[in-house]
Amino acid sequence: MAEGQVIVGLEVHCQLDTKSKLFCGCSTDYRNDAPNTHVCPVCLGLPGAMPVLNKRSIEYAMRVAKALNCSVLPESEFSRKNYFYPDLDKAYQITQYDKPLAEGGYLEIESDEGGEKRIRITRIHVEEDPGRLVHRGTTESGKYSLVDYNRAGIPLIEIVSEPDMRSPKEARKFLNKLRATLEYLSVFDSEKEGSLRVDANISIKGSERVEVKNISSYKGVEKALLFEITRQKSLLRRGQKVDRETRHYLEARGVTQSSRSKEQEHDYRYFPEPDLRPLHVQSWVEGIVLPELPDARRERFIAQYGCSLNHARTLTGELRLANFFEKVVAADPTGLSTLADTWIADTLIGELNYRAMSIDAVDATGFTELLTLLKQCIITDNSGIEVLRVMLDQRRDNQSCETPSAIVDRLNLRKVSFDTAQSGIEGNPDIDPLRTSIAEVLMEHPAAVEDFRKGRKGAFNFLIGQLMKKTRGCADPAELNRLLQEELNKKEA
Ligand SMILES: [Zn+2]
Repeated sequence: MAEGQVIVGLEVHCQLDTKSKLFCGCSTDYRNDAPNTHVCPVCLGLPGAMPVLNKRSIEYAMRVAKALNCSVLPESEFSRKNYFYPDLDKAYQITQYDKPLAEGGYLEIESDEGGEKRIRITRIHVEEDPGRLVHRGTTESGKYSLVDYNRAGIPLIEIVSEPDMRSPKEARKFLNKLRATLEYLSVFDSEKEGSLRVDANISIKGSERVEVKNISSYKGVEKALLFEITRQKSLLRRGQKVDRETRHYLEARGVTQSSRSKEQEHDYRYFPEPDLRPLHVQSWVEGIVLPELPDARRERFIAQYGCSLNHARTLTGELRLANFFEKVVAADPTGLSTLADTWIADTLIGELNYRAMSIDAVDATGFTELLTLLKQCIITDNSGIEVLRVMLDQRRDNQSCETPSAIVDRLNLRKVSFDTAQSGIEGNPDIDPLRTSIAEVLMEHPAAVEDFRKGRKGAFNFLIGQLMKKTRGCADPAELNRLLQEELNKKEA
């Protein structure tokens, strides 16, 4: 490890997307409701109320454990973590301590050097979310705070990583991959405010470790880490030392601040929760079948649709985006996937980010129609972008939405068609340029040609994909297939 090396480990709290809370029947759908309307004696911690474990939340947690390659322990146990805080009505939190649900896994991310890198997972445990404090004014100057117990008792999992990340960028990639994995498992909804919160451990090699608590957004993690690295490095440069401490991230100001509370593990006085029995889930976990996960879907997008590695990573890096892509190309996968690959991964995402819109706002049918207009060479790429912008603006501004064809006609964007009768060119003018493209593709990809000779079917599809790219999707696929086959046969002979 190099001098000045950055070392980052994360503790990620994720709300499991169940219908009811972890230990009672209260609904978890609290976000648009008045404060303290999703509460009962159990989640308010009234005397005598007994917790009953929500089976679904344990199943969700086990799905996560399996997907992160962890071993689920044959016996796990809930514990009480005792501390007093206004958002914790019982004065203790039911969590897991020395017997967590699962241990020892990993998640693969793209490393800073490219290629895959394993981030080890130390443990996964299940716990209840505390309530929420709503401060009037700032924490320091406000006269009072309000407390809302609607969130108290929402099931959480805490995923603890080993300190295997070497930069804020790697930490962001880890979170993105984790978020995608949880969404593919249908156990988590990243669109819900506050559904993911992060504590980060960060140190410069050879110095003390600082824990930054309370980071509540994906972007916040990268910013908080960058701030901390700069702070710690400048202390060391001036010959001062970094204190081992807990700091809070102040999102609005983008800085971390030393927190006064210095709880130590023994202050919590953990003991086994007397109202809940230990969990034995061995046979249950064996029966859990996982759906297709991001890595598998990425490889499938490359094989099935001819996506480039980078585009496949982007497209499958978010469940909604991957689903959108497959919906768009469903009607005509061979004809549309090459166009959809670049138009979604590059153009559409850029336009959405610019407008702070989510992929959910885009109509897949309209997008398919736009790609079809491009494929049939009815409009140029530049006109395509113009049409897309109009479509997104109409959607964003809640105007009535026109179809792409209607926009093309209204703005008079139709390309002037190439009339072969008047051009003076004999025969089909498309054939020669096509043969040239085929010759070029075969020259550029000798390995694929070799694979084709060895009888690998995927190689032919790969070459077709490359050809579609070269001809910008404007050639007739049937004609391309026929000509490519012909050229390959010639080479064979
Ligand atoms: Zn309740």
